[in-house]
Amino acid sequence: MQHSLTTLTTLVQEISGAENAMSAMQVIVARLSHIMEVPVCSLYLKSPTRSKLILAATQGLAEPSIGKIKLSIDEGLVGTIAATKHTLNLANAPAHEKYAFFPQAQETPYRQFMGVPLIHLRQLIGVLVVQGTAKKPFSQEAEAFLVTIASQLAGTLYNIQKSGEWITTRKPKRLFKRYSGIAGSAGIGIGELTPLHTHIDLKQAPEMQGAGILKERKQFDSALDSVRDDLDLGANRIEKELPEDILSLFGVYRMMLESPELLDSTRDLIAQGCSAQWAVRETALKLASSFEQADDPYLKARGEDVRNIAIKLMTQMARKEQTESPDKTTPVILAGELISIADLSAYPSDQIQGIICRSGSALSHTSIVANALGIPAIMGVSDLDIKRYKGKQIVIDAGRGEIIIAPPEEMVAEYQRIKDTEQQFNQSLAGLKDLPAVTTDDFHVSLFTNTGLLADVSPGLRNGAEGIGLYRSEIPFMIHDNFPTEEEQYLVYKEVIDAYSPRPVSMRTLDIGGDKQLPYFDFKEENPYLGWRGIRFTLDNTTLQVTQLRAMVRAAHGRENLKILIPMVSRIDEVKTIKELLNQVISELVAEGKQAIMPKLGIMIEVPSVLLLLDKIAPYIDFVSIGSNDLTQYLLAVDRNNPKVSRLFDNLNPAVLSALYFIRKKCAALQLPVSLCGEMAADPASVLLLVAMGFDRLSLSAHRIPKIKWLIRNISRADAKKLLAKVESAEDESEIRKVLNKKLKELGL
Ligand code: PEP
Ligand code: MG
Repeated sequence: MQHSLTTLTTLVQEISGAENAMSAMQVIVARLSHIMEVPVCSLYLKSPTRSKLILAATQGLAEPSIGKIKLSIDEGLVGTIAATKHTLNLANAPAHEKYAFFPQAQETPYRQFMGVPLIHLRQLIGVLVVQGTAKKPFSQEAEAFLVTIASQLAGTLYNIQKSGEWITTRKPKRLFKRYSGIAGSAGIGIGELTPLHTHIDLKQAPEMQGAGILKERKQFDSALDSVRDDLDLGANRIEKELPEDILSLFGVYRMMLESPELLDSTRDLIAQGCSAQWAVRETALKLASSFEQADDPYLKARGEDVRNIAIKLMTQMARKEQTESPDKTTPVILAGELISIADLSAYPSDQIQGIICRSGSALSHTSIVANALGIPAIMGVSDLDIKRYKGKQIVIDAGRGEIIIAPPEEMVAEYQRIKDTEQQFNQSLAGLKDLPAVTTDDFHVSLFTNTGLLADVSPGLRNGAEGIGLYRSEIPFMIHDNFPTEEEQYLVYKEVIDAYSPRPVSMRTLDIGGDKQLPYFDFKEENPYLGWRGIRFTLDNTTLQVTQLRAMVRAAHGRENLKILIPMVSRIDEVKTIKELLNQVISELVAEGKQAIMPKLGIMIEVPSVLLLLDKIAPYIDFVSIGSNDLTQYLLAVDRNNPKVSRLFDNLNPAVLSALYFIRKKCAALQLPVSLCGEMAADPASVLLLVAMGFDRLSLSAHRIPKIKWLIRNISRADAKKLLAKVESAEDESEIRKVLNKKLKELGL
């Protein structure tokens, strides 16, 4: 028998060439029946909605029985395999007590039978069966082969099974299809799917050889001018609809467009004889990947801006910009690999009912603008074939990251009803900006914002943030081609500190290392999450650390709102050293005749060791801020970017909740102010428990503030405490979420 890896390689190639899910599955059964030299190979998949096993593909049974043979879990041999999740290898299948005969399969009752369960991430997807004529069980070698192949194919079959496409292909009654992605901007959108830029795909390399350096250079320069003009025009067109701070994102795009990293490298490649398109793509992919390697989701998202700019430039150069001007009344859902803010400005914003990007994340600029305009957006729907559904009516439920293609009328009507209710709710939040986040029994929670890019500074103020709880200073470092100088850093920090004064601004020192790489300081590590990160990196690069501290302290001159926050602390000596450096910086600045005051010093609680060191560290610091993203990752030993384990990443895991409560009580005893600045602060379910525990400072993305404020203003801490008591006995996060969701539902969220 063939080696399973060789079989798999051939199978994967054949499946990827298959037209649709049905033919992909047919390829699998036909190929396996051939390799295993058996007359029958059948694939049963579990229906995504009902717990039935349905014959999805077969080689050897009657073709019309596909989609018709349905078994309950535990029914027949196939159902038994599904129920027990065990292989059955039988010499005489009809003699088995669970044997069931299906006349519609027109099968010769083959005696030799072997079935293996298909399991992906612990979930049963289906059962793979082979049947033969021999009067003995299949050989051990055949059994090992089928088990191996089944486990290797499970991931692919999981995607097919989940899409439901294999059912809809057989059942014209349910023609609508579902896809899922990441929520970029919550809300429901109903409209016609309108593809954008589908002809430019950064995955496909254009011709590398240029048509002459001068010609290519000219083409690049003129594309640069056109894109620049487009951005200005776009900004003018939606000027009235967007607040100034969001409009400044057009400035960020311009900055990226004109950044030396993009221009110099592209021009260098053109000078070496490459085509302008190739040079743009090559440069952009490199630049984008240095952002995307970052561990920090905010930085990761900047890679998308670079890709967007590259697509715009290449579209200009390819002169294939869509010429059809859209009908100005039909509600549209724009869909593309990436959609730039300039694309949005081509439509009146009330015509755009939604956005779908095959790439991108919740922190992309498209998401930020979509949030500001109140347009639902779903990102990262990599398996959606956009061109195929052009012009189809679709519904997107962006909060759940769900796309429904060609839904029936009743479904559209139901979504419209939910959309109307949501709209009424959001309108009622606008009035909350200047009101405090205080529970009905008078527990006040200060809401701060997380930021890092200058363009993102004012949304916090607009949404009523009481200050900046986390300024991610690595972002200004990412958009330079060298470590920024003290003066360059000073100017950026000053703008932020001035904008928020007298509100407090917690500036975190450089948090890079591991896989949060700077394009100009690349290093590889075996185990980046446990390596040279945050404070470990900056203390080993003392000049860098001192320069940054000087720039921060200088930027706070005349203001008293600066707080300095240290990332990834795991040991007490790190805190002592940073404190010494800070003292040294103050003395030096004073000696230079500059006014400098000691800012408050705090640490991020991200590494679990700090929990057990708090007593010892407390005398050296003024406050702590919990980085719930990293704390959860380290406490649970789960990388949430790894799809194999990401389902285990949950802030509501009882271990994480115990750790948080421990920190809260410990800080109260030590009289140490504590805030929480990870994603958890923006999750309504988590906020119920954080309020109960007594967290009175939360820091979150600006656009999430109104909803969290509404929640806090609509609950009593006494009720929240009851919920906390209830979930304390829960065994796992799903039990906890159930309790909390019930409460959120009661509140109307
Ligand atoms: C965190 O770890 O929760 C945090 C806020 O830091 P970052 O997301 O920047 O790693
Ligand atoms: Mg962190």
